[in-house]
Amino acid sequence: MNKLKKVTILVPAYREAKNLPLLVEALDGMVRGMNDSGRLYEWEFLIVNDGSPDDTAEVLARLRAEDPRVNYVNLSRNFGKECAMLAGLDYAKGDAVVIMDADLQHPVETVPQMIEAWEEGYDDVYGRRRDRGKESWLRKKFSLAYYSLLQKTTRINVLQNVGDFRLLDRRCVTALQELRESQRYTKGLFCWIGYRKKAVEFETHDRAEGASSFNFLRLLGLAMDGITGFTISPLRIASVLGLLVSLIAFIYLIFVITKTLFFGEEIQGYPTLLCVMLILGGCQLLAIGIIGEYIGRIFNETKNRPVYLVDTYNGDKI
Ligand code: UDP
Ligand code: MG
Repeated sequence: MNKLKKVTILVPAYREAKNLPLLVEALDGMVRGMNDSGRLYEWEFLIVNDGSPDDTAEVLARLRAEDPRVNYVNLSRNFGKECAMLAGLDYAKGDAVVIMDADLQHPVETVPQMIEAWEEGYDDVYGRRRDRGKESWLRKKFSLAYYSLLQKTTRINVLQNVGDFRLLDRRCVTALQELRESQRYTKGLFCWIGYRKKAVEFETHDRAEGASSFNFLRLLGLAMDGITGFTISPLRIASVLGLLVSLIAFIYLIFVITKTLFFGEEIQGYPTLLCVMLILGGCQLLAIGIIGEYIGRIFNETKNRPVYLVDTYNGDKI
């Protein structure tokens, strides 16, 4: 008999003690459904505990004792979802890896569809949200504006309404493992690696238990990482703006000189001067800020620290 292909379900988890048993149960149901229809695979449920302060670690140990398909990695502290995903990719053993959230927002029923597309020869089968679920109007608007900005300024095509829920072939996983930047924007990295992609639509569910760990500030940070990690166009914009302002200033200078030569000079308004100074000061600070963002990134990357540290794998100290 041919050896079965292995599929890893990779789940980053932070404070998900209540959700994980529900998730493993749902996955088990999905696998049983697939077995019944004769689509046999070897399964691994790899859960990366991203330094949760609650009893996620104990829950994981229990889940593994009950079900040998469960493997788990405990990180040494909270490194953030982006880093936890890389840890998962490093530990995943599957020929394909399906990344999904622990809070059951990503429907397990979509996984068989993804696997089908993978069998057709696609390397990166990504889930596209049909709607964005219960999200505030403001968050939706921001997200829309952000993606259009990112699409216009980068050469890679970062897709709207596409998150981390996707199936990756082994060669995509290998490619992603090579991208070890520490300020990660995985959504962009998925697009950067290329390969044959296909979309599968899904309906976002509401979070099963607990609350989202991504507040506005954290999303803003991620958004900045997305921009500084994939494009230097803000720097270009700053240069163009500088050039434009200098040009206008030069034209104005010629105008003032000509006017003085022909009509004499009367003292000009002090408020106008102040306004111009403030506006220019603002532009300068903005430009320095933009440069600062990139320097900060260089600083963080040159330290060359590991992206994450592992405490235990399946209970064994690493
Ligand atoms: N997550 C993580 N580390 C963190 C924050 C979140 O691994 O520091 C995981 C979390 O357990 C979940 C996924 O990332 O599986 C998505 O998080 P969440 O549901 O809080 O975000 P949202 O759905 O609002 O984007
Ligand atoms: Mg969620």
